[in-house]
Amino acid sequence: MADCIFCMIANKEVPSNIVYEDDKIVCFHDLEPQAPVHVLIIPKKHIASLDDTASADAELLGYIMTKVKDIAGMLGLENGYRLVNNCGEDGMQTVKHLHFHLLGKRKLTWPPG
Ligand code: AMP
Ligand code: ZN
Repeated sequence: MADCIFCMIANKEVPSNIVYEDDKIVCFHDLEPQAPVHVLIIPKKHIASLDDTASADAELLGYIMTKVKDIAGMLGLENGYRLVNNCGEDGMQTVKHLHFHLLGKRKLTWPPG
């Protein structure tokens, strides 16, 4: 989608620090890391948010979930991690392309802010 920064990253139109990529997803380092490891996992397909998913996206969403452990393993998160999705205005979503934050390598507090 034009003017979507994460589509541009997926299409290599803007630089990013990619840690994993396949035909369905891209994983890259967050520009403003909130933990020693903070990467974003996105589908290559433009979906604005979790609220904009359809039943036809179930396979893609399931695929992302099963890839999390592989990416966490690649990044050395053997002691655990947190997967976060910010959705919509109250969720404080700032980039309107579905993404999951994968954070780790520190003790993460709860509840989030
Ligand atoms: P959210 O608030 O859940 O929409 O998160 C968007 C995230 O994208 C933030 O953590 C930003 O730091 C990150 N971000 C925005 N632009 C870029 C970029 N060009 N490369 C990497 N991370 C980005
Ligand atoms: Zn997009």
